[in-house]
Amino acid sequence: MTAETPAPGLRKRTGAPGRDLTRPELPEPLPVPLYDNHTHLEFEDGVDQLEPLESLDRAAAVGVRGVVQVGTDLETSRWSAQLAAADPRVLAAVALHPNEAPRLFARGELSAHLSEISRLAAEPRVRAVGETGLDFFRTGEDGREAQIEAFETHIEIAKANGIALQIHDRDAHEEVVATLTRVGAPERTVFHCFSGDARLARICNEHGWYMSFAGTMTFKNAPALREALAVARPELILAETDAPFLTPEPWRGRPNAPYLLPHTVRRMAETLDLPLAELCTQLAANTERVYGSWDPEEAAA
Ligand SMILES: [Zn+2]
Repeated sequence: MTAETPAPGLRKRTGAPGRDLTRPELPEPLPVPLYDNHTHLEFEDGVDQLEPLESLDRAAAVGVRGVVQVGTDLETSRWSAQLAAADPRVLAAVALHPNEAPRLFARGELSAHLSEISRLAAEPRVRAVGETGLDFFRTGEDGREAQIEAFETHIEIAKANGIALQIHDRDAHEEVVATLTRVGAPERTVFHCFSGDARLARICNEHGWYMSFAGTMTFKNAPALREALAVARPELILAETDAPFLTPEPWRGRPNAPYLLPHTVRRMAETLDLPLAELCTQLAANTERVYGSWDPEEAAA
């Protein structure tokens, strides 16, 4: 890490009052190592702060050998790129979050920030533009134009750099699909924290878009997500934590971190009725196909 790397706890998670903030214990390790393709290590959450490097050690101990660290604004995108340059277990994604774009637009700063994202996207260990996309849950009608404009520019940045796109899609499935079709999706496009049903999974299958499943697929009230997973083409599925959010069962509500990914992967294997090792091998291969190798030497070759 360099001197200008901001301290962890750059962001603080605000949760529901009364949440149990103790960290869940380590799960049983996975039989084949794989990756958490979407996490936010800069967040402070829980009674004991887990430093980013400590979080990566803990993840590696249970078979999560690497992560994609995801930025949501300029500060966290820069930090993600720095962490990826400093630690071989990290690749970075950089973007302005869809709920951030309208605020930046209102302040007249959107295009300057997008240029900086474009500059960061060219760094060798930045392997995705994300998270970008559309969020009609938190952003109202008045913010939509700026959100769509920012999404389109992020798509172009991913294509110009030949890297993946990580999409945040909240209550906006149709418009996300329409935008991708209109602008032309990058070759590797990922629906992060896939929140669609079997119908959206079939659309992703047709286009060859990746579906990344988070802790939400373990929730009791999410049978539609498990149906979507069952429909998804095996070579298009990925797994993520979106930590510190969306902690998988049996720890829903507690602080999340990449070391908890095995809970989601085990539930995915159950849903698909696949041997765990077979699913892990598939997920690791899919993830490397999307983001390239984590190994600095292999990537340089
Ligand atoms: Zn996220």
